[in-house]
Amino acid sequence: MVIYSIVIPIYNEEENIREMYRRIVEVMEKLEGETEVILVDDGSSDRSLHFMREIHQRDRRIRYISFARNFGHQIAVTAGLNFVRGKVTIVMDADLQDPPELILDMVEQWRQGYQVVYAQRISRKKENWFKRFMAYSFYRILRILADVDIPADTGDFCLMDKQVVDVLNSMPERNRYIRGLRAWVGFRQTAVQFERDPRFAGKEKYTFGKSLGLAINGIVSLSKMPLKLATYLGIISATVAILMIFMVLYWRLIDLATPLIGYTLITIALFFLGSVQLLCLGILGEYIGRIYEEVKGRPIYTVKEISNSE
Ligand code: UDP
Ligand code: MG
Repeated sequence: MVIYSIVIPIYNEEENIREMYRRIVEVMEKLEGETEVILVDDGSSDRSLHFMREIHQRDRRIRYISFARNFGHQIAVTAGLNFVRGKVTIVMDADLQDPPELILDMVEQWRQGYQVVYAQRISRKKENWFKRFMAYSFYRILRILADVDIPADTGDFCLMDKQVVDVLNSMPERNRYIRGLRAWVGFRQTAVQFERDPRFAGKEKYTFGKSLGLAINGIVSLSKMPLKLATYLGIISATVAILMIFMVLYWRLIDLATPLIGYTLITIALFFLGSVQLLCLGILGEYIGRIYEEVKGRPIYTVKEISNSE
């Protein structure tokens, strides 16, 4: 019976796969009990899938799924979770930024009775200040906005008990922000801390655009607060407008010396209100777009190949 399942999403990681396999095997040796690894190829265009097949041929504990195209990191993790058989599942990146050795500490916590053990970064080595700053601010904004308490500086690197994985698998939503859903489900959770290593090789797959997309996804999937923004802005601008009516009345009826304010103010007000309205429309759009995605009810991913021992 499989005890440990390790899920690893892979998108064009040909330079990392072999080294990752080597490090994972070292950890597997130290784990007592049967272990399986689920590699999820997220539509790689390099030789990643080739290496995955090769490793599977040699070592049947390594299984793989390959997507018919790139669906994104969160969906790859979702697919991995759909295929695991273990009593406990670990999710980690393929680029060795998440040190596999930490799995041993996580398992220790699991043995203590925790059902979710997430890895919390205490530092990010060699990532540029802009990314660090954005990540730092994002996690703190999310904490303020979200309906659930999401621990700061945690990514998808974590361990989850089968009970938690089953709940995640039963959630039908298509927009999957795993670390948010993981916090949302509850259960006994704890952190283990680690220093995030730099990538072993290859380029980061999260471009600025993708990271921003993930961030918006996180906020929209966990909070309805932005929707209220329109209401608040509306109240503020109405208050300003009422004050201005009184000002104008005062100048017209009592203080006749002051000339009435002219075009500049009107132009500014026009642009300001116009942009506030567009912003609010955009926010509405984010939510409606997601409703549309959910309603279409398409499969979350399409699989083109599964390791042949299935
Ligand atoms: N990844 C993926 N699909 C994507 C982008 C990334 O499966 O569309 C995988 C990638 O191969 C890696 C993990 O997700 O294993 C994290 O990606 P990356 O290292 O680029 O992100 P970061 O470390 O900056 O969070
Ligand atoms: Mg990385």
